Amino acid sequence: MSTYTLTQSIPAEAGYDLVVAGGGPAGTAAAVCAARLGLKVLLVEATGCLGGMGTSGLVASFGPVSDGERMLVGGFMRELLETMWAQKAFGPQVVPEFLHSQLNRWVPFHPEHLKRILDEFVVQAGVEVRFFTRLVQADVTGRRVNGVVLSNVEGLRYVSAKAFVDATGDAALAAAAGAECKVVLRDTDTVSPSTLCALLGGMNWEDPAYGEGWKGLDVVKNRVRNELVPKAIEDGFFTQEDRFFPGMNRVAKQGATLNAGHVFNLNPLSIRSLSDGMVFGRKLAVEYTEFYRKYVPGCEDVELLATAPVMGVRDSRRIVGEFELTMDDFRAKRQFPDQIAVYNRPTDVHPSNTSKEEHERFLKDFHGKDNLGRGESVGIPYSILVPRGSENLWVAGRCHSSDTKVHGSIRAQSAAYMMGQAAGTAAAQSVATGQPADDLDTSRLVATLRSAGANLPQKELSRQMTRA
Ligand SMILES: Cc1cc2nc3c(=O)[nH]c(=O)nc-3n(C[C@H](O)[C@H](O)[C@H](O)COP(=O)(O)OP(=O)(O)OC[C@H]3O[C@@H](n4cnc5c(N)ncnc54)[C@H](O)[C@@H]3O)c2cc1C
Repeated sequence: MSTYTLTQSIPAEAGYDLVVAGGGPAGTAAAVCAARLGLKVLLVEATGCLGGMGTSGLVASFGPVSDGERMLVGGFMRELLETMWAQKAFGPQVVPEFLHSQLNRWVPFHPEHLKRILDEFVVQAGVEVRFFTRLVQADVTGRRVNGVVLSNVEGLRYVSAKAFVDATGDAALAAAAGAECKVVLRDTDTVSPSTLCALLGGMNWEDPAYGEGWKGLDVVKNRVRNELVPKAIEDGFFTQEDRFFPGMNRVAKQGATLNAGHVFNLNPLSIRSLSDGMVFGRKLAVEYTEFYRKYVPGCEDVELLATAPVMGVRDSRRIVGEFELTMDDFRAKRQFPDQIAVYNRPTDVHPSNTSKEEHERFLKDFHGKDNLGRGESVGIPYSILVPRGSENLWVAGRCHSSDTKVHGSIRAQSAAYMMGQAAGTAAAQSVATGQPADDLDTSRLVATLRSAGANLPQKELSRQMTRA
């Protein structure tokens, strides 16, 4: 491709302590928690709402929040759950048991309701939010980010700040700042494929097939996966023989979100590939709606109301952090002095193609012995949020530093909210003390997080973060 040199002066703004790029789970938590600690925060979000995949992406269910015995999440994430519970924002089948004592139990919610709750959180914390605003460039000197270039309807704008959090999912800010990153598609062929999720109406959840409460829903979900999808494949119903099928989430009286149909080989960092993927994803959504109408009880009148306006990307680019959380740590249920959260969710790296072998690999991993049992957890250390050598840049959420299998576990929204709270709190500590990201006093960070309600059971603390 030939190049064009752009030389232009653009308006510049100053005065922020922290700029957070991306208003998904991680970015929203980072912005709110930093603002509560006194920082002047600007949160920039490419779409028109907060919540990221959970709202724009129609991925309307939180990964597990309990270890099968007790609730594992604390701090902002727990506050969010309690607010959602009080405002009846969960699917009608959600009972306290879901949250407090279920192993591997996902928590469905109403995506529109979540948008409004997150709006309230940022307004109350005094975060300035700019929607429809995309981070496009970073201005860096040595290890320090000085400012970022933003693009929106008003044109380009330069914004300087003391600290930055990259919560874009794609590590867009870290990459723009020259931080070392892993582009996952290039590095491994077992990366989880993308899915364009959708919203369905017209479900008859009263159909006798669904029995009573969530246990009845599980019976149908398992029947769809184990009997009806294989039958439809045998009948030649589907365009692609995709054996793994997450399925529907009951999020309303007659509504559901649909997480079905993989867009294989999509490169989330190529606009051509993303664009083609949206077209293919919309075709798949029609097909899966027809599948439900034809094969699944209670779904005879189901209608496809909308597909998500953004591609559901599970994995794209991650930072090379001060530490990488690996399967060895996961298997060992390792706890860290600098952990900022503890978590329990299976390694969920979806099949990367339609072969039977990949499906079997997925099932073995997802249900295998490497996963965490009841009452167990793995720690998420602070150092996976720090791009190597960074002074004033943190990442949170999906673009943290872990290997592909562990990423398949801790990429979930509930973990992303907790990483966001930690990144925002670390930024506040750094601004207050002058400690750089890569030499932050992590015993102080853990103490601040604990005082904000985080569940951090480690007995020993350390001033130094965990390094390889
Ligand atoms: C199909 C699918 C199903 C999933 N199922 C589940 C599930 O059931 N339960 C669960 O807990 N997790 C699930 N996940 C994982 C989870 O949704 C994500 O990993 C999680 O949302 C990551 O949070 P995040 O804040 O890092 O990123 P995101 O949720 O992706 O949010 C990133 C935000 O940054 C914005 N952004 C991106 N680039 C820029 C930029 N340059 N400038 C400004 N803004 C930008 C985006 O618009 C977005 O709002 C699923 C993911 C997918 C794709």
